Amino acid sequence: MDTTAVILGAGYAGVMAANRLAGQGVRVRLVSPERRFTERIRLHEFTAGTRADPTVPFSSLLHPDIEMVYGVAEDIDAASRRVALSNEAVLDYDWLVYAVGSGNSSVPAGAEAPSCLSGAGPARDKLRSLKPGDPVAVVGGGLTAVEVAAETAHAYPHNPVTIYAAGPVIQHFSDSTRHGVLRSLERAGISVRQEMVEADRLPEAAAVLWCTGFGVPDLAARSGLAVDAAGRLAVDSRLRAVGRERIFGAGDAAVITDPGYSYLPQTCATAMPMGAEAASNILRTLAGEPLPPHNSGFQGQCVSLGRQDGALQFLHAGYTPRRIHLHGRAAAMLKEVLCRMTLKWIRGEAKRSGAYTWPAGPRMTPAPALAEA
Ligand SMILES: Cc1cc2nc3c(=O)[nH]c(=O)nc-3n(C[C@H](O)[C@H](O)[C@H](O)COP(=O)(O)OP(=O)(O)OC[C@H]3O[C@@H](n4cnc5c(N)ncnc54)[C@H](O)[C@@H]3O)c2cc1C
Repeated sequence: MDTTAVILGAGYAGVMAANRLAGQGVRVRLVSPERRFTERIRLHEFTAGTRADPTVPFSSLLHPDIEMVYGVAEDIDAASRRVALSNEAVLDYDWLVYAVGSGNSSVPAGAEAPSCLSGAGPARDKLRSLKPGDPVAVVGGGLTAVEVAAETAHAYPHNPVTIYAAGPVIQHFSDSTRHGVLRSLERAGISVRQEMVEADRLPEAAAVLWCTGFGVPDLAARSGLAVDAAGRLAVDSRLRAVGRERIFGAGDAAVITDPGYSYLPQTCATAMPMGAEAASNILRTLAGEPLPPHNSGFQGQCVSLGRQDGALQFLHAGYTPRRIHLHGRAAAMLKEVLCRMTLKWIRGEAKRSGAYTWPAGPRMTPAPALAEA
């Protein structure tokens, strides 16, 4: 094979991109610091101890032709099309997919951050060391904070859990869905305080779980690629890095800076379509076909509130809430089904490139034109 695609990061976006490219006449090299795939969307379960292992073997997810390269990408030299890894290996590429994901935003001393695997382990250990009655503080008001708090409260019923959120929790849900979630939190004995927590003044608690949002690796910025204020790789509507024809970006670590795409949040439901589309655009470019603008949207978002409770907010394609929502056990079951489907979609793509499809995004006016490959 004459053409090599290197994919940086083997999360949801990276594995989806790798599977779509594999078996299509392209040598695919997938770079990962970890030896197993992390189901990040289950890290609240792992943190609270309701799931023993949030990882699965790559071999169970990936097309057999994909070469795993274990290491951390340290530098991208776009001019010479090379990536330097931390173990001093150097990978040459024809096409690069930047999918290094996100982790915890800066975490103050004394807090644990469960939103990536390296932080979830210590957070889990901290919770295990609690004595009955020891209070737990969860800082943040987004989906991760709510899921972590609810899972912890159910797993540690003798430890009072308080959410500290700077604003209303789960702001993008409708008022009625949010009220339902707040009622569930109250039933689970969780207090919610609307209060800004400063990094140097943590709440008085035996465990402080820091869930204030995702930060991204600074690899793109360090490598001289165009990034937004948060350090995400800036890509156009074809997912090409700005000014770099051979680098595509996908998932939490990339942001589409063309107008009309600001509705896309850092979620798995954004990362997988972007990963698949980035790979498709490499294949289209090789075939001399025009590249369509990226088009992905939403139908709903589930939040789990412990193993037996949850909420489903139905969404418009552009990630705004519809009036319909679902609560309780049915929503919890649906969330579990979606977590399983995620792996099923990845495996389906390994079996047949192009198998994975996703909901369309909101209509854009005027519609972005096709771009030449
Ligand atoms: C508790 C929790 C629950 C969530 N629930 C949901 C949900 O229900 N629905 C939803 O849509 N989203 C959910 N999310 C968000 C979702 O997990 C992320 O948006 C998603 O993981 C992003 O996928 P990704 O492939 O971009 O990045 P990641 O999954 O973060 O994967 C990136 C990979 O890149 C690797 N990497 C990092 N730096 C380098 C480097 N320099 N070189 C090589 N590799 C590198 C990382 O180790 C990682 O394996 C949840 C997140 C959390 C924490």
